[in-house]
Amino acid sequence: MAKKQAQAGVESNAQAGEVAPAAIHPRVFQQTVDQADTAISITDVHGTILYVNPAFARVTGYAVDEAAGRNESMLSNKTTPPEVYKSLWQHISRGEAWSGRLVNRRKDGSKYLAELNISPVVDATGDIVNYLGMHRDITAMHRLECEVKNQKALIESVVDAAPMVIALLDVDDRVVLDNHEYKKLQADLGMAEPAPMLMTAIRAGLESEAVNGRRNSGYVFLDREVRLDLPGGKPPRWFSCSGSPVHEDDSGADAFFEGGGRNYLLLVAKEITGLRAEQEKGRVAALQVVMAEEDRVSALRESLSAATFRLEGPLNMMASVVGMLARRNGEADPMAAALADAMASGQQALAELRAMIPAETREPSGAINVNELLRDVLDLSTRRLLASGVSVAWKPQAMLPTLQGYPNKLRAMFKALIDNAIEAMSARGWRERELIVITRAQLGGIEIIVEDSGPGIPVAKQIKVFEPFYTTKREGAGQRGHLGTGLSAAQQTAADHGGTIEIDPDKAAGCRVRVLLPVKRRS
Ligand code: FAD
Repeated sequence: MAKKQAQAGVESNAQAGEVAPAAIHPRVFQQTVDQADTAISITDVHGTILYVNPAFARVTGYAVDEAAGRNESMLSNKTTPPEVYKSLWQHISRGEAWSGRLVNRRKDGSKYLAELNISPVVDATGDIVNYLGMHRDITAMHRLECEVKNQKALIESVVDAAPMVIALLDVDDRVVLDNHEYKKLQADLGMAEPAPMLMTAIRAGLESEAVNGRRNSGYVFLDREVRLDLPGGKPPRWFSCSGSPVHEDDSGADAFFEGGGRNYLLLVAKEITGLRAEQEKGRVAALQVVMAEEDRVSALRESLSAATFRLEGPLNMMASVVGMLARRNGEADPMAAALADAMASGQQALAELRAMIPAETREPSGAINVNELLRDVLDLSTRRLLASGVSVAWKPQAMLPTLQGYPNKLRAMFKALIDNAIEAMSARGWRERELIVITRAQLGGIEIIVEDSGPGIPVAKQIKVFEPFYTTKREGAGQRGHLGTGLSAAQQTAADHGGTIEIDPDKAAGCRVRVLLPVKRRS
């Protein structure tokens, strides 16, 4: 219908031979304004209404004839601040358009929120002759806006008050929203964003590669435990983390028909340090018992191995003497026969001794948190460290990759290194007694440094100390009987894990042992 009228307007213009062929007949303007859905009014320069369209009548309740001749102020609810009107009139009387929101009152006294646009209309000389006002009732939209705002404020206050860390992460693990507890954790840990670190640990723990690959889009995890190791001797903290996907619809015009949006992950981390610390106490106590037994067995193994090692020397000597006597005096030489008998008894004793050496227990390989393991060893050594007056600087990297390995063997290795360090610093009269334990992730592996402020190991002996049964301690007074298998066993353990162990030759004072363990072992 409207289309037909518009065409008619164009035709009549063309017939009249007026201006451009696209010009529209004034009647079309009249009809357009009359039929527009927006409340339209035209006033004089004082705001006195000259014309209103039917939509104006519908919105305000004033009939078209009733409105004409009255001032627009009839719509004022008298609750709009005077500054708004002041600004309105300042703009329009300068010839500028104005738009804003006002509280209007209908004829029946009901109120509504109006979004009003006023444009000055000027004559050929540029003088303002009229004002064109267009407004619509935006009460419902405003109510919706308020509801959204209130809901947002409510959600934010609930999220903020929640006694757990909450963060919304984008697909690149960037935090787009967080709560009060998250900010507190940031401050406690002294780091910019703890969330990506938590996510790295969670992903490392998620077995399924397919899940890993999906990066925050549509996967869920529940109660995954993450341990954060803090430097400066602070106790570790544990978090139980859950994640759920959140999809945000794209509000852009492009997406109106096509859809689309962004994917986020809602990370909720509940601190369970108190609970875990209790469990840890029990675990470390049990570990202490196991390690004491392992120590005892390994000391026995060490002593028996050393005894067989020492017996082999004289027996070999006897074997060469028997051979020499037999060559010189013949097989019947009584001395050679007596020696051969003695040697046979010796060999038997040696075999019996060897049979008594406790077999190595084969432990299954498992996933290891190196920080946790070292912390265990430090906990187990606390009494010795205190007794020797050694201060400990524990500097773990907060998050390390998981290592596949033999936990007992590794524990024993680090225990041996720490025991060596304590022993070195316990030399009589030695004052500097500091043990530094550092962990950090290296390319493809984990580096662990155990450093002491003791007398150190001379460069010439730094390779030799890894030989079985070699010890520098024999040289000191009162060190007799030390067998010196600790470092050779440590080297064996590092090698069993595809890693290396070395003494830093550049360390001027004290001793720095560097252990490098690869995260993925070459098969
Ligand atoms: P008023 O006494 O009318 O004026 C308040 C203040 O406005 C004065 O102190 C003065 O600073 C300024 N003012 C008023 N008239 C003029 C003028 N002629 N020149 C310069 N400054 C002036 N108001 C609404 O509340 N709702 C509407 O929907 C609405 N639509 C309007 C549409 C048009 C096209 C125009 C031109 C005005 C419209 N107004 C509307 C404004 C209206 O005319 C009144 O100014 C306003 O309602 C305040 O009325 P009042 O009786 O409280 O105060």
